[in-house]
Amino acid sequence: MNFNDGSLFVENMQKLVITAAPYGPEWMPEDFPEDIPVSMEAQIQKAVDCYNAGATVLHVHVREADGKGSKRLSKFNELLAGIRAACPGMVLQVGGSISFAPESEGDAAKWLSDDTRHMLAELKPTPDQVTIAINTNQMNVCEQMTAKDVAGTSLADPALMHAYREMTIPAGPAWVEEHIKRLSANKIQTHFQLASINQLETVERMMRRGVCNVPLILTWVAIGGGFDAPNLYNLANFVRGCPDGSVLTLETSMRNVLPLNMQAIALGLHVRCGIEDNIWNQKQTAKMGTVAQIEQLVRIAREFGRDVANGDEARQIYKIGTFYKDADETLAKNGFAPNRVPGQVGFLQHA
Ligand SMILES: [Zn+2]
Repeated sequence: MNFNDGSLFVENMQKLVITAAPYGPEWMPEDFPEDIPVSMEAQIQKAVDCYNAGATVLHVHVREADGKGSKRLSKFNELLAGIRAACPGMVLQVGGSISFAPESEGDAAKWLSDDTRHMLAELKPTPDQVTIAINTNQMNVCEQMTAKDVAGTSLADPALMHAYREMTIPAGPAWVEEHIKRLSANKIQTHFQLASINQLETVERMMRRGVCNVPLILTWVAIGGGFDAPNLYNLANFVRGCPDGSVLTLETSMRNVLPLNMQAIALGLHVRCGIEDNIWNQKQTAKMGTVAQIEQLVRIAREFGRDVANGDEARQIYKIGTFYKDADETLAKNGFAPNRVPGQVGFLQHA
């Protein structure tokens, strides 16, 4: 991304898109009962509350009635339908890290086990986006958590902590290409959630090969544990690698969230908050729910002079519903240099 003169003036920035992640699948309801919705009605209401507070993209996971994270496609469909009806302006982004367990023996026979995550492309009503990881990677979501962060929560249980520490995300090349193809066929946008610049380079190569003809809408996920750490140098390196046509949101974990979001607001990038990322206020004197986190970002953006996008504006900024026909169009629209034509020498440019 080019930060030429004037790029730090708010009149030259897109309006701020706030993504809320209010479902916190890594926590149990008793970890933060005031803020973790369990009933279907409460999960739908949480989306409405986030939207009314200023969030326009909702990162969706869903809980069963017993409070455990759901892996059932039907439960996701139920929540998506409920939110669409109650809060039609919200951009719905399903967290693609979830793999669905078959609901019955019959389903198990019908779906290849490697294929279960492709079922995200079959969600009804269709979400606006499904997040995707690129390249199989460690995802130790606990590496940036301190002992105080988890004290008194379910993650203080060594067995649970072990499971989350050892988590890996399967996202090999064949699966990724097929998944993007299926999402695009169903008019669902692929939202790239990237751990580091080498994953961004893989996305660029896919676009160059014509197997990923979509807008580059991405989140830099700086949570450590196989992902970048949320420091200035990694951020600058990643931002430099993003082409000018991409739309970049920043994400990190625990008390890194607010400082990184403040940088995103200042740089003209976009933010994500919510209890999936952090449950504490900055001095760790109390827990802080998702709506309060959204309201805090709205206050900061307002003080800074940067307007917050409404639902329609977020949809436009995020290029929801936009798909490209081939590699050339994809590279041009996202702001990458064109592919090299045989015999062409020197540096590449579009015009
Ligand atoms: Zn998630």
